[in-house]
Amino acid sequence: MEKRKLFFDMDGVLVNFQSGIDKLSDEAKREYEGHYDDVPGIFSQMDPMPGAIEAVHKLKEHYDVYILSTAPWGNPTAWSDKLLWIKKYLGDVFEKRMVLTHCKNLLNCGNGEFLIDDNKKHGASEFGERHIHFGSERFPGWNSVVEFLIAEASMDQVLTGKLKHALITESMANKTIKALDAYMKVLNRKCDEDYTSELGEEVMEIASLTNRWLAATGERNRNKYYDI
Ligand SMILES: [Mg+2]
Repeated sequence: MEKRKLFFDMDGVLVNFQSGIDKLSDEAKREYEGHYDDVPGIFSQMDPMPGAIEAVHKLKEHYDVYILSTAPWGNPTAWSDKLLWIKKYLGDVFEKRMVLTHCKNLLNCGNGEFLIDDNKKHGASEFGERHIHFGSERFPGWNSVVEFLIAEASMDQVLTGKLKHALITESMANKTIKALDAYMKVLNRKCDEDYTSELGEEVMEIASLTNRWLAATGERNRNKYYDI
């Protein structure tokens, strides 16, 4: 079964932004007050959010995972720092699976993609109910997110299994109906040529069986072949 796509935001979701600010010198803090994301190299200093790394490893078993983050337009080093951060803490989990954009909505392709994001900005809210709003009352931390997403993935598997079963049953029923139909035509012809009550009984038996198979596929007229 094809896995659903799952996008991870970085700041405030995988990355503890505050931990980078805490490591700045007093001078840098004064200089960049109010716009810390412009500090050169600040993104390489940040620690992971509690439980984030473990959560990624769990979720990648159930989802097709990607990074979907935004980097500040005025801080070019943030773009490379984000790549280095992912490599440092998550190895090759996201190798060549990283999207940095201010238009996250472009990745919402209507195929059931989920986005974990602490913000509604940059198109995140366009994911609708598939926007896992990290830090909200519903998803205060990683435990609730992992629990919800694994349950969703399991549900997908169950539904796909049921659908497959239904399709197999229906195609088997259709094949059997065709075979019974063909057999009944032969018997009917024989009846016309040489009527015996025995042959008539066999026709009715096949008709009854065909009707039962039709009923199994949802046919409303349960007595399509003779009224029996
Ligand atoms: Mg964020």
